[in-house]
Amino acid sequence: MSNTFGFSISARQGRARTGVVSTPKGEIRTPAFMPVGTAATVKAMMPENVRATGADILLGNTYHLMLRPGAERIHNLGGLHRFMNWDRPILTDSGGFQVMSLTDLRKLTEEGVKFRSHIDGSEHNLTPERSMEIQKLLGSDIVMCFDECPALPADRKRIEESMQLSMRWAQRSRDAFGDRPGYALFGIQQGGLEEDLRAQSAEALRSIEFDGYAIGGLAVGEGQEAMFGCLDYAPGQLPEDKPRYLMGVGKPDDIVGAVQRGVDMFDCVLPSRSGRTGQAQTRMGAINLRNARHKDDPRPLDAECSCPACANYSRAYLHHVIKSQEIIGSMLLTWHNLHYYQELMAGLRGAIAGGTLDDFVTRFHARRAEGDLEIL
Ligand SMILES: [Zn+2]
Repeated sequence: MSNTFGFSISARQGRARTGVVSTPKGEIRTPAFMPVGTAATVKAMMPENVRATGADILLGNTYHLMLRPGAERIHNLGGLHRFMNWDRPILTDSGGFQVMSLTDLRKLTEEGVKFRSHIDGSEHNLTPERSMEIQKLLGSDIVMCFDECPALPADRKRIEESMQLSMRWAQRSRDAFGDRPGYALFGIQQGGLEEDLRAQSAEALRSIEFDGYAIGGLAVGEGQEAMFGCLDYAPGQLPEDKPRYLMGVGKPDDIVGAVQRGVDMFDCVLPSRSGRTGQAQTRMGAINLRNARHKDDPRPLDAECSCPACANYSRAYLHHVIKSQEIIGSMLLTWHNLHYYQELMAGLRGAIAGGTLDDFVTRFHARRAEGDLEIL
C-alpha cells in the first residue's frame, strides 16, 4: 500500500477517465462515489455494510462535527476513523458550504465567517486556518480548502468577488495545511457559470498547487442543463493529472453526464436521504415505495440487484416497513440505494476501461425511459 497520496489514470474514453487515487489508508477507484457520513455515521448503515456496497471512501462534514461532538474531542478519542470505526479513506469538507447556508446567523469578512450554531446558538469563528486545524484534528485523508460558495442565480460582480475571496482563502488554506505526507489538500474552483471566471479561478489554484481539484459552486439550483454547460469546459481548465471532484452531485444521470465530461469523484446525500423517505434509486429510475400500488407486490424492488433489500424482501414488505416507519425500512432502502450507486460507478469504470462508455450511457438512459412506463 502506498505511503503517499497519488493518482494514476489507467484508461480514457473521450473526456472520461478511470484510475486509482492511492492513499496510505487504501485505494479509491475512480470514478468514485463517496457516501455522506455527516455526523460520523452514514445514517442507518453500519460502516462494514457501507464498505460491502463497494464504497472506498466516505465524506465527513466539518461543520457538524466541530459543533457536535467537537473536533478536539474526536482527536482525543483517536481521530474520526477510529471514532466511527471506518479505517479507509475519509474526505472532509471545509465547513464553508454549510456555514454560508446559515444566511441569518452568519457574518462574512475577509478573515472568515462568524456564525451561531444551529444546535445551541453558541458563537463560532471559522477561518481557513481553523478549518485546516479542525480537519487535521479529525484525521481527514483528503482535506478541502475553506471557500465561499454563493447561491445561484447571483450577479456576475457578486460571483467574481466571491471567487477572488475564495482564491485568497485557498492560499491561506495551503499555507496553514503545511507539509503532511500521506494527506491531500484539494483546491476548489469557483466562478459560477462564467467561463472566464472559472478559468481565472483554475489559474489561481494551479499556481498555488494542490493534490486534487474540486469543482465547487454547482448543483446549487442552476439545473442540469446549465451544470452540464459549465462541465463542458470546467474540468478541462484543471490539471489533467490530478483527481477532479464535483461537490454535492448528484442524481444518477447527473453523475453519468459528469463522468462523460471528465469528473472523477462525487458525493451526495441523495441515496441515503431519499432511502429514509422511501425512495429507491434503480436502473429503471426512482421508485417511491410509499406508493400504495406496492402493497400486494411480491416482486423484489429490483430483480437484478443483489443487495439484501432486493435479495430477501418483496416490494410489499418494503412498502409496509416504510409506511410503518420501522427502522429496518430506512436500513434496507439506504443499503439498496448505496449499492445501486456503487454498481453504477463500477459499471462506468468498467465501460471506460473497456472502451464501451457510449453503449453503457445509451443503455443507462434507455432503461430509465422504459422504467418510467413500467412504473406508471
Ligand atoms: Zn437492491
